[in-house]
Amino acid sequence: MTDTLFTQPQPQDRYRQTTDPVLQLDKINVTFDKFRALTDLTLSIGVGELRCVIGPNGAGKTTLMDVITGKTRPTSGKVFYDQTVDLTTLSPVEIARAGIGRKFQKPTIFEALSVFENLEIALKTDKSVWACLRSTLNGEQRDRIDEVLELLRLRALAHRPAGLLSHGQKQFLEIGMLLVQEPHLLLLDEPAAGLTDAETDYIAELFRTLAGKHSLMVVEHDMGFVETIADHVTVLHQGQVLAEGTLRDVQNNEQVIDVYLGR
Ligand code: ADP
Ligand code: MG
Repeated sequence: MTDTLFTQPQPQDRYRQTTDPVLQLDKINVTFDKFRALTDLTLSIGVGELRCVIGPNGAGKTTLMDVITGKTRPTSGKVFYDQTVDLTTLSPVEIARAGIGRKFQKPTIFEALSVFENLEIALKTDKSVWACLRSTLNGEQRDRIDEVLELLRLRALAHRPAGLLSHGQKQFLEIGMLLVQEPHLLLLDEPAAGLTDAETDYIAELFRTLAGKHSLMVVEHDMGFVETIADHVTVLHQGQVLAEGTLRDVQNNEQVIDVYLGR
């Protein structure tokens, strides 16, 4: 892996105590009609941290990401980014520009365009698709795309239409489309879903490499994957934080065993 964009974390960084929060959710409430999807949710993520969020279906994990990215407005509460910016006052586009990138559960790539062109469009988000494909890349932009192609093991497929990629390759491409934008905070919703074991291992290694330089929030059900990557785990249940700590801490928590892990 190259080390200009993605510095390899040192072992001592891996479980370091994070200091400044990159993201702080303060008593977030989200209500759909009368249903409470999130209730007084308070959560803080440190700079460079890799946080896993787990919990049963319907716990509010995706809604949490919707709130951070401005897709859903909370009925009350605040979301601070870099300690000063209240994300609940910004539009989704402004939030993305502020350095928060999100990967959805389903890939949202342009199937008719090549892998390279998809990365090019992701890099030049300020232009329309056609304006983007007509304008030329500068050397720095080309280098960044090359680096991401290498990192996501897509170099040999750069000129293939994205629609012809395997499911795993499409997922990798979508992660690449986030990385060319160099986000500070990455939100990933079930990134290992549908991947082969080898792809899952590689994504776990990639996320470990990205942590430190980037902050990551990963929603995932695959406990093996969570075990490989997570510094800290937050367990959500019925729109609230049920437990938080190392994976071992939460795995030994009686309430977590009752509602999520099972006995
Ligand atoms: P998770 O991602 O943890 O499975 P979600 O955040 O998707 O859970 O959903 C939490 C709860 O909120 C679910 O019960 C879901 O049905 C409900 N919900 C989510 N989005 C909406 C919406 N737009 N309108 C009504 N209910 C919603
Ligand atoms: Mg979800």
